[in-house]
Amino acid sequence: MPAVLRVALPVPLPTLFDYLPPASGEAVAGSRVLVPFGKGKAVGVVVEANVESAVGNARLKRVLRVLDDAPLLDAELMATLARAADYWLGAPGEAYANALPLALREDRPLPDLHEEAWTLTDAGRSALDAGSRRGGSRALLDALARGPQTAELLHEMLPGWRDAARRLEQAALIERTQAHVAEPPRVTAAPSLSEEQQQAVDAIGESLGKFQPFLLDGVTGSGKTEVYLALIEKVIAQGKQALLLVPEIGLAPQTVRRLRDRLGVAVQVLHSNLAEGDRARAWLRARSGEAKVILGTRSAIFTPLPHAGLIVVDEEHDSAYKQQEGFRYHARDLAILRGRALNVPVVLGSATPSLESLANVQAGRYRALHLRARPGAIRAPQVQIVDMRAQRLDHGLSPALLAAVGDTVARGEQVLVFRNRRGYAPVLLCYSCGWHAECPRCEHPMTLHAGRRVLICHHCDATTRIPSQCPSCAAPDLKPQGQGTERLEEALTAQFPDVPVLRIDRETTRRRDSFEQLLEGLHEDKPAILVGTQMLAKGHDLPNLTLVAIVGVDEGLLSVDFRASERLAQLVVQVAGRAGRAKKPGRVLLQTHHPEHPLLRQLLAQGYAASANTLLDERRSVQLPPFGHQVLLRADAHQRDHVDAFLGDAAQALAGLPLQLAGPMPAPMPLRAGRHRGQLLIEADTRSALHGALRPWYPALSALPSARRVRWSLDVDPIDL
Ligand code: ADP
Ligand code: ZN
Ligand code: ZN
Repeated sequence: MPAVLRVALPVPLPTLFDYLPPASGEAVAGSRVLVPFGKGKAVGVVVEANVESAVGNARLKRVLRVLDDAPLLDAELMATLARAADYWLGAPGEAYANALPLALREDRPLPDLHEEAWTLTDAGRSALDAGSRRGGSRALLDALARGPQTAELLHEMLPGWRDAARRLEQAALIERTQAHVAEPPRVTAAPSLSEEQQQAVDAIGESLGKFQPFLLDGVTGSGKTEVYLALIEKVIAQGKQALLLVPEIGLAPQTVRRLRDRLGVAVQVLHSNLAEGDRARAWLRARSGEAKVILGTRSAIFTPLPHAGLIVVDEEHDSAYKQQEGFRYHARDLAILRGRALNVPVVLGSATPSLESLANVQAGRYRALHLRARPGAIRAPQVQIVDMRAQRLDHGLSPALLAAVGDTVARGEQVLVFRNRRGYAPVLLCYSCGWHAECPRCEHPMTLHAGRRVLICHHCDATTRIPSQCPSCAAPDLKPQGQGTERLEEALTAQFPDVPVLRIDRETTRRRDSFEQLLEGLHEDKPAILVGTQMLAKGHDLPNLTLVAIVGVDEGLLSVDFRASERLAQLVVQVAGRAGRAKKPGRVLLQTHHPEHPLLRQLLAQGYAASANTLLDERRSVQLPPFGHQVLLRADAHQRDHVDAFLGDAAQALAGLPLQLAGPMPAPMPLRAGRHRGQLLIEADTRSALHGALRPWYPALSALPSARRVRWSLDVDPIDL
């Protein structure tokens, strides 16, 4: 049998592919290779070199070209990725593809590692001294007077500087440089840490150099970030690298600033909103060891860390860490895998830890560290329930809530009204016959977007015009039901015409920097009302924000999803944490039709930790995760019988194994975007039983003839069923 290269290709198949070695050059594990694939070519990663192929010579094709002399993915990443693909039952090729920024998955030379930077020419210096040039050109010359600057910093200082750069470069007044750009100055000093913070830093600090997961459980504003900063400082001083994950891009800019100003080092940023070249460069700088501090969202967990010192996962409970398509990994869990492989401590931080992490603490696998006080602020805000029953509501807002909003803005302070629903109203209803606008492709109500004058399906984005009369009975009686952020914005603007009302949701923050810009003005001591979704639940210190009004969380109390209670508790606590972050005390109102609900009662009386314990006990008693283990097989197709046939075959293949099967059954949304959806839930008391049974099953599924007529996926530890 010939010696071959085993290559991972970015295709959703549970296999690696064998190729004959290239005619010239040597490919080693971790290098990228260009190979013939199907009718075209593909870039893959060599997983094993010099292995014996089970296939005869005649059927093997040859690698066309080796793209990397030295492996692009180091041995640790290769091993972790193999483990991850095995754990999440992912297509190995997709796992490797996830690990590489897009620009590195193509047959192109590696981008230049060095950042784009600009400097004055001699002529430019003269022009500066002579005071010629005006406007943007002048501003750019001034910015470069202090020495070379990176494009990244210029972008931050002078948005729109590129036009000026083009003009000045043509005039030979500035030029691109690769000269070493000075590290940014340290502008803020570390506060002296509280006793709790110091204890946390000491405990984690003692573990540097070995693997140990920590849960840093600290209320919002308790100074978790200060703990990360102190640790990162230690790590840098040892010449090592620190990786900090945040759940959302929106949180990145302010965190980058905070890190840079405190640590006095460049911070490499990795998230999906970056230009591909920048992302690849940041990744390569981490790989070279040049980058000491790397900040990123979910996929940054794949950053190479040749000198790893520490991994931090901030807001570890956040569901954004779970990838919901393709390779369905969880970045928090992958952080633990990497920490073990790299021999570094992993810090999971949250004010509302996930039940998974709390269970890991109880089992002794993670060490818990607590921050209970809020150093910078007055005591945590009180949460009060507003009983909505038998109240006259104004667009869903109760008189008590409106009165509190009025008092707050009259004092010159700011209010956050939280509603986790975009649009004007979730339903458009005919008052004559009961018809409501529904998406034909999803069989779900369409959301009314009044400003854009359309109905939008939030499940498939189908958009239609608003009918002028009822399509069913022709009555002109169509009325919006329920409230989204757009409607609350309108109602609050009408009630408080003199106060700026800002809406923050996916619609108003579509542009790259608009979230930051919207929040910019709010650092001042002026009254304002913010209306927004989940996006507002996180980060962002707004010192003048003293009232948080939570409206419309009742859906979470009534949901059948077993994770809904956990999510609701986290959301309420996180949103409430936005109030009273600085010197002024905060107040939180929670408007509900279910003031007696046990979850709310316990949460408000005893806090998140007690509620989480109750929820953990419930999960334990019925063997739900994190005590039982689940894998979900999903399938969809245009025809329901194709889904049923495939899921039936899949279930059949598991008969007789020590597993519990639920289904095949329709998915919670049986129809979406015109496709019928079904699922099979597989549960077991131990992970080893589950994985033992499913490892051989996964390739068997792809071989089923009925699999060809559906789209299907496996989700290990699914977070929404
Ligand atoms: P968290 O990350 O837990 O939400 P932060 O680290 O952002 O908390 O701290 C909240 C606020 O308290 C910040 O403004 C921070 O500068 C301040 N702070 C944190 N620790 C201290 C400290 N030891 N002394 C003074 N201020 C502190
Ligand atoms: Zn009607
Ligand atoms: Zn739809």
